[in-house]
Amino acid sequence: MVFMMSCFSRSIRIVIVLTVAAPLAASCGNLGGSNSDKPRVIAGFYPFAYVAERVAGEHATVTNLTTPGVEPHDLELTPQQVAEISDADLAIHEAGFQPSLDDAIEQNPPHDTLEVSKVLELSETRLAEDTEDGQQDDHEIHPDESADVDHSSHDGDPHLWQDPTLLIPVAEQLADDLASADPDHAADFKANAAAFVKDLQELDHDFEAGLADCERREIVTSHAAFGYLADRYDLTMIPIAGLSPDVEPSPQRLAEIQDLVETHNITTIFSETLGSKEYAQTLADDLGVTAAVLDPVEGLAEDGSGEEDYLSLMRANLAVLQEANNCT
Ligand SMILES: [Zn+2]
Repeated sequence: MVFMMSCFSRSIRIVIVLTVAAPLAASCGNLGGSNSDKPRVIAGFYPFAYVAERVAGEHATVTNLTTPGVEPHDLELTPQQVAEISDADLAIHEAGFQPSLDDAIEQNPPHDTLEVSKVLELSETRLAEDTEDGQQDDHEIHPDESADVDHSSHDGDPHLWQDPTLLIPVAEQLADDLASADPDHAADFKANAAAFVKDLQELDHDFEAGLADCERREIVTSHAAFGYLADRYDLTMIPIAGLSPDVEPSPQRLAEIQDLVETHNITTIFSETLGSKEYAQTLADDLGVTAAVLDPVEGLAEDGSGEEDYLSLMRANLAVLQEANNCT
């Protein structure tokens, strides 16, 4: 009984200590002030959070609204995130890709916004691009699914980061916007953007060289996330699903893919890191070909090493493309 009493009173003491300590810790954080004057940048999803981190360097805090392991298409925001957005100095978003973010920005605007499709012109969707054989066009996407496909049809295909050179104007615009928010560090933002642009140009060069000489140029992908990559490096994307990964392919579509795989001697069906691998794997098994991962780089994987970034994920994509299409 004495023992029980002593445990009881001890736990009370612990509770009291914690209760007192928590507000102290919070106020220490506020009074510390070392971070409080940095611009706060909010990015809707990973590629633009990465651009922001590279350009801002140590001079801003960057928050990615899409946590690792979560598909950024159709992001749902928590009330706390909505508040963070309205408090931000700058929000980077791509209109149409994450409608809940567009709404939050419209209803409670942050200080400034960088809407990516205003910096560069988005291409039309590539859903009809693999029609060189006359086997598919937009209308063959199941009618019930057209609303899902259309979520990203604001102005076209949203997956522009799959062409590294298209991130260059975004980085340069961001350097300008950050300089407006924090003029003291304008030169650093510019220098950071320049270093990032150099990395993007190297990546572009590696893709160009690495995919110059291949046995075939067709790639079968889970969803239509690789239109810009295909355009830039002269590949033909054959997407199983539409622009949004949650659109399930029709049986006709699967049959068409089968024909194309046989016609072009395609060796690999690509699934992706975050979305369902089911269709790609089932199709690959049925056709006796390999299933491999081609990462749309829309977000980081939850179980990733923590060391991946946009550049390393894109280079991993290059390696699997070279293997799948027997590039020398
Ligand atoms: Zn996508």
